Amino acid sequence: MLESEGGNILSSDVDLISYSYTMFNNFSKPDAIIRPSDPEEVSSILKSLSDERKKVFVRGNGTSFVGCPAEGGVLIETRRMGEILEIDEEDLTATVESGVQIGNLLKNLPKDLFFPIDPDGLSLSTFGGVIAEDSASPLSLAYGTAGSTLLGLEVVLPDGSLMELGSTTIGARGIESLFIGTEGSLGVITKVKIRLYRRPERLLLYEIDVPHVEDAIEMHSLVDASGIPLLGFEFYYRDLFELGGKEVSMGARVHMLLKAPQREDEIHKKIESIAEREGALKIDVEEYDPMYLPKWKGRGYLIEGLKSTCRTASFLSFTVPRDSIFESISRIDAIGSRMKLETVTMVNPGMNWILTGFTYDFSDEKEMKRAERALKMAIDQLSEIQAIFGFGTGTGTNMAGLKLKSLDNRELFERVKRCIDPNFMMNPIFMPEEE
Ligand SMILES: Cc1cc2nc3c(=O)[nH]c(=O)nc-3n(C[C@H](O)[C@H](O)[C@H](O)COP(=O)(O)OP(=O)(O)OC[C@H]3O[C@@H](n4cnc5c(N)ncnc54)[C@H](O)[C@@H]3O)c2cc1C
Repeated sequence: MLESEGGNILSSDVDLISYSYTMFNNFSKPDAIIRPSDPEEVSSILKSLSDERKKVFVRGNGTSFVGCPAEGGVLIETRRMGEILEIDEEDLTATVESGVQIGNLLKNLPKDLFFPIDPDGLSLSTFGGVIAEDSASPLSLAYGTAGSTLLGLEVVLPDGSLMELGSTTIGARGIESLFIGTEGSLGVITKVKIRLYRRPERLLLYEIDVPHVEDAIEMHSLVDASGIPLLGFEFYYRDLFELGGKEVSMGARVHMLLKAPQREDEIHKKIESIAEREGALKIDVEEYDPMYLPKWKGRGYLIEGLKSTCRTASFLSFTVPRDSIFESISRIDAIGSRMKLETVTMVNPGMNWILTGFTYDFSDEKEMKRAERALKMAIDQLSEIQAIFGFGTGTGTNMAGLKLKSLDNRELFERVKRCIDPNFMMNPIFMPEEE
């Protein structure tokens, strides 16, 4: 039986309820919460829970779409493992405990360095969380996903064994990458070593409204082809703004961030003329303080909109061939209208990446069921146009069958899982299909 040391086990009703929500208002109550403060403690907790055959869920800061907890079981929260262990300015690396939030590392870095993946745009995600989800962010266009910054990690396996994996400073991917994107279903990540990047000296932020989705896609192609050094290019479909009650011009809103070298006048003229050619209704440009990297203004609209309307959404993150982006949005729209649900959609045409959600009132069970059905319909319909689910967050192993949709992928993952976690104790939302 586990003993509470210094309040690291919570089981009162108030605590259980306050840990029952994720940032997206998903609700499910664990039986107990354990907040270990070092890897050795994680190891003894897992050993003991594995002897007792308990279900175990891992939680960083609960900001994800797929986030745990699930009903029942023990929730291991990592935030007490929140120490920055090393910042190496020469090698451009940082080693942190897994419960460190992105914002904490950013605050402690020298001004000219930064870490580019901040998926929620609020710097709240933990390093364990972003690696476990292989999170992507708008800046992934230039820097890749969280997994591509990983140089090494320490993990505790379900039987309590502690392993230190990696690491090289050049980041050749080794066995540590097994844990990228597996959403806590193979062990608890306790430490990560990641790559840091030099902050660009100047940045411009463009916010442009164009009437149609096709205009925004075309605009990206033209900007890209003109050789302008983009850090990110994302557009938000009208409904994302309407959700938060913001005033918008019609259609899509392009939100573009670029590195501006010395001759930015020339760049500005190019962008303006491309935007005008695509029928821009509004072009705003501002100097963007590089200190705010990797925050991304448009992302804030999503969370603001959901919170202010007391809604949540069932999300889907996927990539499609470039010429299917428009078709994907049309299909999502049609499903939304059929199921009488609002959608929220962000598109990153440079990465062929779409993040969409069907919104619902979480206290309305009927609406929630419709959102679940809408999600299944979207998966079926988008599969027909070669969507690959699971770019960054929102799929992976917890929502079994999405990222692992290919039968061979799924089977291989199941075999690996059986070896490492034979009792399917960790994040057991992923279960073998026949069981
Ligand atoms: C407004 C908003 C926008 C977002 N946009 C994107 C986006 O564009 N792209 C994207 O990829 N993501 C996006 N996300 C989700 C984001 O990726 C996750 O919020 C983040 O990565 C999870 O971090 P967390 O610490 O909160 O983890 P949690 O939400 O607590 O957990 C997430 C998953 O990781 C596992 N996990 C957490 N810590 C560990 C650990 N130490 N060891 C093993 N497993 C662990 C959990 O079991 C769970 O399965 C967005 C989130 C928000 C709020």
